[in-house]
Amino acid sequence: GPDREAEELFTELAGDRAGEWDRAGEIPRDVLRRLGARGLLCAQAPVVHGGLGYTSRRNGELTAHVGSLCSSLRSVMTSQGMAAWTLRRLGDAGQQADLVPRLTGGELAAVAFTEAEAGSDLSALATRLTRSGDEVVVDGAKVWTTNAAYADLLVVFGRTEDGVGAVVVPASAPGVRIERITDAHGCRAAGHADIRLDGVRVPADALLRGVDRSSALLVTTALSYGRMSVAWGCVGILRGCLTAAVRHAVGRKQFGTRLADHQLVARHLAELLIAEQNAARACEHASDLWDRGSPDLVTAVVLAKHVAATGAAAGSARAMQVLASAGAHDGHVVARAHRDAKLMEIIEGSSEICELILAQHAVATA
Ligand code: FAD
Repeated sequence: GPDREAEELFTELAGDRAGEWDRAGEIPRDVLRRLGARGLLCAQAPVVHGGLGYTSRRNGELTAHVGSLCSSLRSVMTSQGMAAWTLRRLGDAGQQADLVPRLTGGELAAVAFTEAEAGSDLSALATRLTRSGDEVVVDGAKVWTTNAAYADLLVVFGRTEDGVGAVVVPASAPGVRIERITDAHGCRAAGHADIRLDGVRVPADALLRGVDRSSALLVTTALSYGRMSVAWGCVGILRGCLTAAVRHAVGRKQFGTRLADHQLVARHLAELLIAEQNAARACEHASDLWDRGSPDLVTAVVLAKHVAATGAAAGSARAMQVLASAGAHDGHVVARAHRDAKLMEIIEGSSEICELILAQHAVATA
């Protein structure tokens, strides 16, 4: 069921401050540490590793709540959760026991796939993970890594001698340079950064041992978590927009009637409700498959991400229209949602990439 205590803590910390964080481009670290140390930024991590052991469904509802308040903070949760999930799926027992408790204990992590020449096409990854005695040397350059500006640990995907793998690199390791992106279109406080890795040496132990399977499998593992999290975050964006639009449409009169009673405005409200309900049902379905370990999960997650992200982008534009000048201030919940939601159609598999995956599924199952 809903997680009132955790939701209230997020509301208390982010409710009134998200607009200010957006303008400043920064979430105070003490807020992130405090939430992180309670396991709330990666709540699906198992209890044995200090986590909260949430189901995907329960974590999803919490993620939607955070998404309704602050998509930057929700993005930090997505990265942290994706890092914890990657460690759990690709790390061996020892690596999980070493690393996951750090993430449930307040350290922050980012996951870096994307490179300048490897965006949608991750088969073009060029970062090299080279064994050298009992070390791994990491060389490459990543772009647009969410949470990297706050991170203690970076989960870096790259090419090994015989496939694709992931390595855990301390952000403070010599040879790592984190270059903050200060002009992001949205999710401005999510700690986006480009990362340079020049001859970075880490112990061989830092290479997650689930390496060298197909790159598609490795990447899908991490991306599936990210997609599920983004999808729930978009449900939250829609909830925030619906609440703000209804409140405004009921509270303001033009031409002698409430905005909500002008039929063209009422349609915006209906479409927002439809988008929110569609996104929520798609996410619930995917999370339930996740929690049952169903093989249908991958497609359901892609579908949820597509429905929720396109719904949030279109819905936030409608909410802007309903609020008009009242929502046109930088940092306003609806103005933020409008910028943040657009990015959700781009990340973790753009809408087009989701469509290709769904079409392949349709063809394969026809
Ligand atoms: P491109 O791949 O160049 O795509 C450009 C356009 O072409 C898109 O519309 C795309 O859908 C379309 N396109 C590409 N190929 C095809 C095709 N085969 N068929 C049809 N259309 C196609 N990366 C990380 O590794 N970690 C992160 O934490 C992270 N966070 C991010 C946060 C934000 C806010 C943003 C903007 C990006 C983030 N990224 C992150 C990078 C993100 O995953 C990529 O931007 C995304 O994969 C798209 O790659 P690209 O931007 O290079 O676009």
